[in-house]
Amino acid sequence: MTGATRPRSNPIFVLMIFIGMILGGVVGAVLGREIPFITLLGDLFLQGLKMLIIPLVGSSMIVAVASLGDVRKLGRMGGVTILYYLTTTIMAVIIGLVLVNLINPGNGVDAGQGIARDVAAYSFLDVIRGIVPANIFKAMADGKILPMIFFSLFFGGCLTTIGKRAQPVVTLFEGIFDVSMKMTRIIVATAPIGVFALVATRLGKAGGWEMFIVELEAIGRYALTVISGLAIHGVIVLPTILFVIGRRSPLQFIRDMIEPVFLAFSTASSSATLPVTMETISKKAGVDSRVGNFVLPLGATINMDGTALYEAVAAVFIAQAYGLDLSFPTQLVIVLTATLAAIGAAGIPQAGLVTMVMVLHTAGLPVEGVGLLLAIDWFLDRFRTAVNVWGDAVGAAVLERFVSFPDSGPARTD
Ligand code: ASP
Repeated sequence: MTGATRPRSNPIFVLMIFIGMILGGVVGAVLGREIPFITLLGDLFLQGLKMLIIPLVGSSMIVAVASLGDVRKLGRMGGVTILYYLTTTIMAVIIGLVLVNLINPGNGVDAGQGIARDVAAYSFLDVIRGIVPANIFKAMADGKILPMIFFSLFFGGCLTTIGKRAQPVVTLFEGIFDVSMKMTRIIVATAPIGVFALVATRLGKAGGWEMFIVELEAIGRYALTVISGLAIHGVIVLPTILFVIGRRSPLQFIRDMIEPVFLAFSTASSSATLPVTMETISKKAGVDSRVGNFVLPLGATINMDGTALYEAVAAVFIAQAYGLDLSFPTQLVIVLTATLAAIGAAGIPQAGLVTMVMVLHTAGLPVEGVGLLLAIDWFLDRFRTAVNVWGDAVGAAVLERFVSFPDSGPARTD
């Protein structure tokens, strides 16, 4: 589809969001504490976004699957999507591993400074078990996306097999989807204030600028390793894939998708950002909404390049801090478990820290090591979430080239 008729991101609005983020950072840093009214504004914004996740994910997946027209196509599209996501995630892990082995951020760090913490056992089997909901309403009430996706795919797939009677159901879900999109647009209009409040609150909670610098100094090289890795993946690797395979201009695409990327940074949650990612990708970037509707909810839960990269860096950092030498097979175990841990992490703030335990456990590393990461994890979480969402968006644009729909006319973006 051509860009001529499409509303692009409004540069003034994007600038307002950016100013909101910066101002929030300054206010939080200077005050060094939370202001209840600002916290309330941030909470309202975040809750507004979260409120839309379930209606949006459910309806978009059902409509997307129903529009494929044939259940067999679902298998193909699902397969290609998962294969693509796995590939980029493993690439991210490898970048993280190379950097952490080059920079050695854990050497010289005193492992004793980690805060001891009770770590719950978490295994990949739990992730798989969680995919099939025993009670779909409970899964919805808990805001769990993966079981929602499973149910919606199943429901949408079977819907294509009941003939004429499916039509009113599809129309109903199309309506729910369109209304949810409209609601998303209205909530996004308040984003400059929302991101200001979220950033100010988080930095204030961290104790302001001085505390932050002290924490950063202790494990600054670790933070630098994670951020450099994320930059390489987000600024070089993903745009190259977008350009070569997706045949799109990366500059134009980031311009179109900058709002969800900023929001991901401000909310530290791929799931909370999801409604905006979905809205923007079809409205501003012109990706076929049927592809976005299928690929993005999946991506928000299972495609986390930034999280995977961070898991790998963090695991090796902990090993270095404890003075443990990692053999090549152990590093391979880290590649595998970091990928699985990223798939298993929910799209919520600091979920990666929880699945980190699984990586450490499997690689035979000291699980208490997560204590070393705690102080600035909230900060790194923002960068990795931004890369997670950017990776999902690039994925949708690339995968658009590999799927065809029964009525392969012009892309539907309404
Ligand atoms: N906050 C991340 C996300 O929502 C997950 C994580 O790495 O903790 O994508």
